[in-house]
Amino acid sequence: MSSLVVQTSFLGDIVLTTPLIRELASRGPVDVLTTPDGGMILSNNPAIRNLIVYDRRECDSGLVGFGRTVGRIRHAGFYGSAEASAPLTGSDSGYSSAYLAQGSFRSAMLVTAAGVKRRVGFNTSEGRRFYTERVEYRSDRHHAERLWWLANPESENEPTREQITPSLFPTPDDDRIAGQVVRDQIADISRPFITLAPGSVWATKRWPFYPELAVRIAKDFNVVVVGGGADVAIGDAIVSQLPDGCAANAAGRLGILASAALIGRAVALVTNDSAPQHLASAMNTPTVTTFGPTIPEFGFGPLAPNSRVAGKQGLACRPCDRHGPQKCPLGHWRCMRELSSADVFGLLTQTLSQVSSV
Ligand code: SF4
Repeated sequence: MSSLVVQTSFLGDIVLTTPLIRELASRGPVDVLTTPDGGMILSNNPAIRNLIVYDRRECDSGLVGFGRTVGRIRHAGFYGSAEASAPLTGSDSGYSSAYLAQGSFRSAMLVTAAGVKRRVGFNTSEGRRFYTERVEYRSDRHHAERLWWLANPESENEPTREQITPSLFPTPDDDRIAGQVVRDQIADISRPFITLAPGSVWATKRWPFYPELAVRIAKDFNVVVVGGGADVAIGDAIVSQLPDGCAANAAGRLGILASAALIGRAVALVTNDSAPQHLASAMNTPTVTTFGPTIPEFGFGPLAPNSRVAGKQGLACRPCDRHGPQKCPLGHWRCMRELSSADVFGLLTQTLSQVSSV
């Protein structure tokens, strides 16, 4: 019988759901209800039968959009396609189970209204009253592992690292486009490059010393900045202070899977606690992640081998928020301001020496 995974959260969470999807796909067909961005990042994933895109902010907003989405879930469950047009009868869904990787009240309502009889989610989730099975939210585990336990609540065995490693599937075209962005801006493409991801939705998670770090890195490597449209300016600032032809700004120029392909070509990634570190985990690229108001113990650290985390130790106010506030509540932002480029470069050097010795 087929399963439905619901994951409409942030990009990083969607990437970290891929081990759960893979696990369920070993038992039967899996469909995924996700956001428009999630639809892009999960495309080509061979473990997924159907991607059902739920655009609750735009075309699926309001009650009409909710009802339409319920209908698409039911069609996909019965016919194996979200676009099937044959009429349905009865109130049951074709899915044997729904896994609520995103725990909102709305997600729980969607699958309940679609008639999915078995609904599995975390015992801490907002929508838990609609679940038929509540799985312990293991706050001391990586989020990819927590999600894996949704499919294996009775397991006596811990998952292996391989089982909780995310996977993404950029196409050859994604790879070609990413390579072209590098070739257009970098003179000597035979020199290896390191990717920097200076952006984050949350302002306090944006480590401020990427330009300084880039200067240190550029002595031995090319530098490529990755990110979205909001990161173009910081990318330009980083590139403009480096010698001509040894840096590229790919921020805002690539789709999500092309960005993943680019990170996959890099020697290493330096990033904030944001989605690019999860792209790197999926692409097996060693990562140094800067943590400020958040900490890796929340379960969102890098998973690629030889990765490291940077964070200001001994700061009583840290962590101050699950996500990272837009402004430091204490005004001093010491968690990031006191994490120097020398600190992060030191960790990057350790990572690189470990990679080169393998
Ligand atoms: S309160 Fe502390 S941990 Fe939070 S943003 Fe400010 S300095 Fe960082």
